[in-house]
Amino acid sequence: MIATNTIVYLDNNSTTAIAPECMAAVAASLQDNFGNPSSKHRLGEAAKLKVLAARAQVAALVGATSPEIVFTSSGTEAIHHAILGALALCPDKSHIITSVVEHPSQLALLQHLEGQGKRITYLPVNTCGQLNFDDLSNAITSDTALISLMWANNETGALFPIAKAAQIAAEKGVLFHTDAVQAVGKVAIDLSQVPVDFLSLSGHKLHATKGIGALFVRKGRKLPPVLFGHQERGRRGGTENVPGIIALGVAAELAMTELKLQSEARVAALRDSLEQKILALFPWSSVNGAASERLAGTSSICFGGIDADLLITKLDKAEICVSAGAACTSTGTEPSHVLLAMGLSPEQAAATIRFSLSRYTKMEEIDRVIEVLPELIDNLLAEAA
Ligand code: PLP
Repeated sequence: MIATNTIVYLDNNSTTAIAPECMAAVAASLQDNFGNPSSKHRLGEAAKLKVLAARAQVAALVGATSPEIVFTSSGTEAIHHAILGALALCPDKSHIITSVVEHPSQLALLQHLEGQGKRITYLPVNTCGQLNFDDLSNAITSDTALISLMWANNETGALFPIAKAAQIAAEKGVLFHTDAVQAVGKVAIDLSQVPVDFLSLSGHKLHATKGIGALFVRKGRKLPPVLFGHQERGRRGGTENVPGIIALGVAAELAMTELKLQSEARVAALRDSLEQKILALFPWSSVNGAASERLAGTSSICFGGIDADLLITKLDKAEICVSAGAACTSTGTEPSHVLLAMGLSPEQAAATIRFSLSRYTKMEEIDRVIEVLPELIDNLLAEAA
């Protein structure tokens, strides 16, 4: 077993530690709520009530209503459901607009659809990782079935102005999906005010368990299922992951409290401190997307000509966990598509480390990084010389 209490965990965009409250709720659910929510007896009813309660908690976090939330197995499934469902809703249309910096879980599906004859427009971003809204408006045609843009970028934390993009889509009568996997629980989201049709989220990015996600489907949108079955009112087949759903509900409620307490401001202060100290220690380093509005806890830093993979290994030996770009895709050889799209060279992308904090991150942990980094970087520079 790995002793996690000494580990400095700054890889929260890859996955988060489960909140103690979620862990307790999962344990209680495994013990007491093992019934199938479809069963008509007391254990089934009890599980069904827990699922209902969690649905209301998740809905409240994003300003939705309970019937608008469909539980899925992951953010990936929610994204795929939204995209495939939107295409099924618009059988005469075959064009989708997205951006070049989307998560691989979305890009992989879009590339597959391209192979099947769909037309995909990948909007570019500027050096801050931001879209040009004229590009978005100009890309929309009468053949456009869906616009799908992420709320927050997993690598840089850059926030797309989703309210504005969704408004453009609504004015042109085009369906709009947002991958809000990295945003939910970290930025205030009120879907009663933002005209998105579909929104995807994932439990393990907000201190719930892995294997649970949700898709918001706006009332009135009859999104066909991808998995057929009677569960989720016919919208997503498969016996519900009751412990995961309960954990997501608790995580949503915790996140709401933290948003009200403005905990993200504290996280942003830690992130700023980390960045300022790194920039002071290594004046040749730079923060990717620094000029963009960003998630409070994400910092993507380019360490000049350093090999990020080697630095990650050295940091790991010092019990500090970070990522290079997105962990889901980092094979160690492919430069990040997000950083390349922002104009970084392959060398700069390969020299970039992503630090991602959470509300559990402490100042001592930032101090620990700052304490060990100079020696590790000196070693790397000496080894490379
Ligand atoms: N979208 C973004 C922006 C992500 O960061 C991730 C996971 O890293 C996903 C989608 C996929 O979510 P999941 O891991 O729940 O499938």
